[in-house]
Amino acid sequence: MTLPTAADIRLNLEHVREAIAAAARSAGRRSEEVRLVAVSKRQPAELIAAAVAAGQRDFGESTAQEALPKIERFRADGLCWHFIGHLQSNKARFIPGHFAWLHSLDSLALALRLSRQQAPHEQALETLIEVNIARTSFRYGATAEALAPLVEQLLEAAVPGIRLRGLMAIAPHPATEAELRAAFATVRTLRDECRQQFGLPDFTELSMGMSEDFVPAIREGATMVRVGTAIFGARS
Ligand SMILES: *Cc1c(COP(=O)(O)O)cnc(C)c1O
Repeated sequence: MTLPTAADIRLNLEHVREAIAAAARSAGRRSEEVRLVAVSKRQPAELIAAAVAAGQRDFGESTAQEALPKIERFRADGLCWHFIGHLQSNKARFIPGHFAWLHSLDSLALALRLSRQQAPHEQALETLIEVNIARTSFRYGATAEALAPLVEQLLEAAVPGIRLRGLMAIAPHPATEAELRAAFATVRTLRDECRQQFGLPDFTELSMGMSEDFVPAIREGATMVRVGTAIFGARS
C-alpha cells in the first residue's frame, strides 16, 4: 500500500471540510460550530505533518503509547490532541500535560486517577463522557441509564482538574441513515438532559460522527467529528 502524498492529504482535508460545511448549512448551523478532529492513529508522522501544513490543528489518537512520540515531535506546532480510545486506569498518567481533550471518560475511578496526575498549574482536562448507544457489550462507555448517576457521582466528588464538557458516542454499525440519525439524536437529548438536570452551562459538546457517518451526526448536532480514513486513507 502506498502512502498518500501531502497533496492528497490537502485535497482530502478540503473535501471533508466542504462536506462538514454543507452538512452544517443544511441543518441551519454554522460550520464553525463543528470542530474537525483528524484521527491520526496508526498513521505515520509524515501524514500528520502534511495535515498540519494544510492548516489542521486538532488530532485524535487512541493509544498513549503510539501518541506520545507524535505529540513530542509536533510540540513546537502547538497542536490540540484528543484522546479518543478506551483508557485503562493504569494509563491515566499519560494523559494530563499531553492531551487537551479526553473523549472517553467512563467511570469515577478513572476521573480520580486522571485528577491525581494533573499538576496543579496545568490546564484542566476537557472531558467528554462516552455513552454506549450501540448496546453491545464489547463497546465501552456508560449506558444511557448509567449516565446521569455517573455525572452525579463526578459532580459530588468535585474532581479537580477535570472539566466536564459533554458526551462522545460511536454509532452502531451497520445502520441505515434513519437509524444513525436516531442514535445521534439520542445522544443529543442525553446531553441536553444532563446539562439541564445538573445545571452545567459548559456541558455543550457532542463528539459524534466518523468518516462514514459525520454528515448525519452534524445534522443531529455534533460539535466535534472524529475523521480518520477520509483524511489519511486506510490505516496500516
Ligand atoms: C478510529 C476512530 C475514529 C476514526 O474512524 P474513521 O472511520 O477512520 O474516520 C473515530 N473515532 C474513534 C473512537 C476511533 O477509534
